[in-house]
Amino acid sequence: MKIAILALQGAFAEHGQMLDALGAEHFEIRQKKDLERGFDGVILPGGESTVMGRLLRDMELCEPLRRKIADGMPVFGTCAGLILLAKSVEGGISCLGTMDIRVKRNAYGRQLGSFSTEQTFKGIGKIPMTFIRAPYIAEVSGSAEVLAETGGKIVAARQGRQLACAFHPELTKDVRVHQYFLDMVK
Ligand code: GLN
Repeated sequence: MKIAILALQGAFAEHGQMLDALGAEHFEIRQKKDLERGFDGVILPGGESTVMGRLLRDMELCEPLRRKIADGMPVFGTCAGLILLAKSVEGGISCLGTMDIRVKRNAYGRQLGSFSTEQTFKGIGKIPMTFIRAPYIAEVSGSAEVLAETGGKIVAARQGRQLACAFHPELTKDVRVHQYFLDMVK
């Protein structure tokens, strides 16, 4: 199994460390030709979704990536990565738009932009969650299902082979969300 990590901007290296801890092979997508390498799943990291979206479009990565995901390539988006996957974005623009979720960007305001908590993640149990200028999911529709909530807000969802969370599991020592994704890829 080989996982591609989008490495245009943001916290991509930390995802590589999680995959190393789980013994999963991985490489970075930095340009269009990297998409031609064979891979079984892709991770979209946290960072700044407007910058990442612009880079994806400028580098002509947006459309091929969107097609792969629409054709069933397993994908895991964290924070800005979640925003890239959302069909509808409040306070931003939809980029890949493959997931039936409506997200609100920078949803917790400046003061509460960054915080940590521990909540239940469906199928895993209690996990630590680190939020950094995080979005939340205002609504899921279609076949998208809620996997985790905190403070009455949806912070993780899954739709088929698409997994998205508003927090950063790669910034904790807990590898279970990444393991969950690898199980989806298998
Ligand atoms: N606020 C960022 C955005 O809108 C997301 C923050 C993050 O990825 N940690 O893209």
